Amino acid sequence: MNAIAMSVLLLCALSLFAGTMADRWWLLRAGAPGEPLGNVRERLRSLLVLGFGQQRLLLEKGAGWMHVAIFAGFIVIFTRTCTLIGRGFDADFHLPLLGGDLGLVYAAVKDTFAALVVVAIVWGIWRRLVTRPRRLHLNAEGVLILVWIGSLMVTDILADAALFTLEPGHPERGWAWLSTASMGLFDPGRPVATATWLHVHYWAHVVLLLAFLNFLPFGKHFHVLTALPAVYLRRLTPSGALEKLEFEGRETFGVGRLEDFSWRRILDMYTCTECGRCNDMCPADLTGKPLHPREIITNERDQAWDLADHLVNVGKLKAQGRSAEAAAAIAAKERPALIGEVNDEEAIWACTTCGWCVSSCPVMIDHIPNIIDQRRHLVMMEAKVPAALQNALRGLENNSNPWNAPSAAREDWIGDLPVPRMRDKGSAAYLLFVGCAGSFDSRNVDVMRALVQLLGKAGVDYAVLGREEGCCGDPARRVGHEYLFQMQAPLNIETFKRYDVRKVLTACPHCFNTIANEYPDFGLEGVEVIHHSELLADLVREGRLTLKPGADLKVTYHDSCYLGRHNEVYEAPRDVLGAVPGLTVAEMPRNRREGFCCGAGGGRMFMEEHLGTRINHNRIAEAAATGASEVCTACPFCLTMLGDAIKETDRGEQLRARDIAEVLLDNLA
Ligand code: SF4
Ligand code: SF4
Repeated sequence: MNAIAMSVLLLCALSLFAGTMADRWWLLRAGAPGEPLGNVRERLRSLLVLGFGQQRLLLEKGAGWMHVAIFAGFIVIFTRTCTLIGRGFDADFHLPLLGGDLGLVYAAVKDTFAALVVVAIVWGIWRRLVTRPRRLHLNAEGVLILVWIGSLMVTDILADAALFTLEPGHPERGWAWLSTASMGLFDPGRPVATATWLHVHYWAHVVLLLAFLNFLPFGKHFHVLTALPAVYLRRLTPSGALEKLEFEGRETFGVGRLEDFSWRRILDMYTCTECGRCNDMCPADLTGKPLHPREIITNERDQAWDLADHLVNVGKLKAQGRSAEAAAAIAAKERPALIGEVNDEEAIWACTTCGWCVSSCPVMIDHIPNIIDQRRHLVMMEAKVPAALQNALRGLENNSNPWNAPSAAREDWIGDLPVPRMRDKGSAAYLLFVGCAGSFDSRNVDVMRALVQLLGKAGVDYAVLGREEGCCGDPARRVGHEYLFQMQAPLNIETFKRYDVRKVLTACPHCFNTIANEYPDFGLEGVEVIHHSELLADLVREGRLTLKPGADLKVTYHDSCYLGRHNEVYEAPRDVLGAVPGLTVAEMPRNRREGFCCGAGGGRMFMEEHLGTRINHNRIAEAAATGASEVCTACPFCLTMLGDAIKETDRGEQLRARDIAEVLLDNLA
């Protein structure tokens, strides 16, 4: 076309882009060091499945597929764009392998994707302007980008259509079917006008593309560039596990300003597409709390943009090892407080750590560590704790349980049942980790008593720690008191080691998650953790527990977030219920991966819920609507929340809440 014009364009556009990206890089370096990046094989697998494969978007119909079409179109058309830029220097330029027959096939595929992208874009604009789903913001940038991408497709197609009109014998004519079909827009009898249109569409395509590249780092569409790196660099540990905070050599704990976030959290800010999937089923958002996970990320990103010059400077100082100067620059910088002004403090406390946001985000943004880091700052740096939580923290410190019951009473739940203690037995196939709820909360004591009777009937070799057991540490850790958690966890681990424990059985998904996913960071090795639903399902399957016929019961099952979403145990509790003859399970609309939280996780069990409507009331209404007479669960916190909701909404006549162990015991032959 014109090599000089193309060279000047490329030089200007790429230098501008390189300058912006360098600033984004230094801004990233303003953050604290992140988690170590090992396991290349798993990262590549994630990149293939979650990045290029768009697995999370494929799980959804509608908008998810629309995005997949645009993403696939981008990849196919990127190849075409490279070819077009090459043709600025040499009119016959082809990428390697695309000069012959393969190039003809590619032309057909490229036109097909261009058509798909145009359809997806029209639909995307329709959704934004007409149907307007709750989760989408109506903003000009979203529409502008769709129009921009559409223009890239149209100019490409029309440039080829003009070319084929000028050169009817062009080999790609016919293969590039959309361009061929568009030839009618040009008059073969007016070659000069057609050649002008060819140049207009060609250069418009190239200029639009280079302008698009330079626009991306300034808005939510930065994700076009950062999503694949973010997927590759994502956290590989289970979503329920929090990162260990190292206390040695630090003066500050948690995150009280942007520079305290790890670079990974800043990359999250770059990558948020503002799609709103995280808000969609956030229990806090849906019940009127001031927490909206998307806005946590975008508020922080807005502040990062506002402080960009300062953060770039800090990033450069840190990279040069001038940490004292970086610290002085950070301390001197006046800015709105991260907690209180950028993020509402109530929002930080409203999170139940249910994991919906993390599991639904198509670009692997990790909201929970972001929120917990801010709680860590509030609790450990500012000693700011919601009033209702103070008694639970006192109980954890003094008696190793958030009910603040005397620790000597930890075995009282056993009563006259023949429950073996580890200190008497010395060893057992399973250590039954009872947990604080099973030990001290009267309703959950019933569940634990049912469970040990089932274990006894099935002849399972187990023992409990009794008064040697301490809180697993979940409540302390989730509310941000990492110091307290790091005092508690090693005590249990030491006890496990003393009895050479190989299998831990627990009826509490919070204990399950903490012991299985977090204790290994504190030295627990070679221990299998089993949830009671998994063992009970096995015992029924193996015929070690037999059931009597004639239950005639319709129940619904509520998924615990820490058992389901965080640890993917969805079927075992349903298998236990499904094994009872005459019992039917009516699923709630929000089940399994989309299960709705009970409101108790993240330490919320021990806080007041004074904003909006109650999360457990929302859930119990859904359970009642199934027409079931029981809502069953496999988590002590859920059981308490559902039981409370039944009482508070006057549904006691219609519905009761039970653990699966109680249902099973009631129906034993
Ligand atoms: S973890 Fe749950 S409650 Fe917390 S922000 Fe995410 S969706 Fe909302
Ligand atoms: S955090 Fe993830 S799910 Fe939420 S709006 Fe951003 S990209 Fe979408």
